[in-house]
Amino acid sequence: MSVEKVLQHIQERDIQFVDFRFVDIAGRAHHITLPASEVDESTFEQGVAFDGSSISGFRSVEESDMVMMPDTSATYEDPFMLQPTLNIMCSVHTPDGVQYERDPRSIAQKAEAFLKQSGVGTTAFFAPESEFFIFDDVRFESSMQRSFYSVDSEEAGWNSGREEVGGNLAHKVKVKGGYVPVAPIDSQQDIRNEMVSTMQEIGLRVERHHHEGGTAGHSEINFRFDTLTNSADNLMKYKYIVQNVARKWGKTATFMPKPLFGENGSGMHVHSSIFNGEQPLFYEKGTYGNLSELAMHYIGGLLYHAPALIALTNPSTNSFKRLVPGYEAPVNLVFSRGNRSAAIRIPIAAVTPKGCRVEFRTPDSTANPYLAFAAMLLAGLDGIKRKLDPVALGYGPFDNNIYELPEAVKREVRSVPGTLDEALNALEADSEFLTAGGVFSPDFISNYIQLKRQEAREVSIRVHPHEYSLYYDC
Ligand code: GLU
Ligand code: MG
Ligand code: MG
Repeated sequence: MSVEKVLQHIQERDIQFVDFRFVDIAGRAHHITLPASEVDESTFEQGVAFDGSSISGFRSVEESDMVMMPDTSATYEDPFMLQPTLNIMCSVHTPDGVQYERDPRSIAQKAEAFLKQSGVGTTAFFAPESEFFIFDDVRFESSMQRSFYSVDSEEAGWNSGREEVGGNLAHKVKVKGGYVPVAPIDSQQDIRNEMVSTMQEIGLRVERHHHEGGTAGHSEINFRFDTLTNSADNLMKYKYIVQNVARKWGKTATFMPKPLFGENGSGMHVHSSIFNGEQPLFYEKGTYGNLSELAMHYIGGLLYHAPALIALTNPSTNSFKRLVPGYEAPVNLVFSRGNRSAAIRIPIAAVTPKGCRVEFRTPDSTANPYLAFAAMLLAGLDGIKRKLDPVALGYGPFDNNIYELPEAVKREVRSVPGTLDEALNALEADSEFLTAGGVFSPDFISNYIQLKRQEAREVSIRVHPHEYSLYYDC
């Protein structure tokens, strides 16, 4: 939409407020609101100023002035505000008018430009599948306590025994028992329906929704793929709607990867593919998974750089509590057509040449989607440039149960990093693929590592409830 069209839209729809939004390094959206009467052409030329020193990881106090530059192609009417409000996504610029090197949305835009310059293709498509839990406050608190205190053994699950006493056992979602049951076991369908219709109202194309495999409230809604920055914008809208509809119902929704110990976690599998104009570049009939050589190299790049990449796709201490065996989350740095413990899955059911894509199962929704998608594209492009062959590099394919492989082969299978600190060390050692073409700056990467190390330290110095069970009576 042009500036003129946006201003016309404001008039015609009697918009009262215009909300300018940007996304910080952690992936949280922030906003400043202007009365519509204050918005004219100059707002779009000059942008909207804000204090960058108050945003974690952005500027220091001495150089605090930053500007949100509105992207008029990324507007939608807010579905929650009482007075008609138009939301506009912005990229962050410095006062000198250049894209700020720590602005995630600018990094995503630079990654798209880099793809075009690389000569590999013109467009990369991304589709995240972002899972979440809906809790009510009481449930959330007691679940958290149970997940800390009431564990008989990890094998048996977090509430083994205890929860089975009394209550309506037939209509209760069991541990890891939530995959697509109808009501009354699925008690959340009305909430998800409302989330979906709200998404449709603002133009998100939703394809399906379901109750996920964890206990009550585990949810997933899928919206259609789009280009890199658009898809990240869409994920921001998705989370905004999920969290606000949940709130309207007196609930709370969380995208935290592992809110409950012993239960399935919430992933954000990301499907991606590259096109040249109208031509899909990942498909070749008759090969393994119908994948072209270029797609195999893309997979090679993702897996080769995975330890470092995961610092951006799984950027929280909690992320690594999800990446453990037994919960459909990936633990092995391998590719496969069906295996859910593999970091990369090749969807094969009903796939057309245009739909041929690679599913990276590692990411979770604590990832900033702009950074995560950009980093994935760069890892894949590096694989294409260096012709990294995932088979020769020992990344598979593994289509059988990895735990049943001969010991010698099993030992060769690499795993995802075990902690955020391990992933950050890997990123420190392997970041050239991200700085290619100036997409991520070295300053961004060192600042990011510092921010995240601080987070990991904040968690590690706190006394954990489970330490009482292990050590109190020593
Ligand atoms: N919840 C699983 C995860 O943590 C994924 C389940 C699925 O395959 O959709 O990745
Ligand atoms: Mg799922
Ligand atoms: Mg999936």
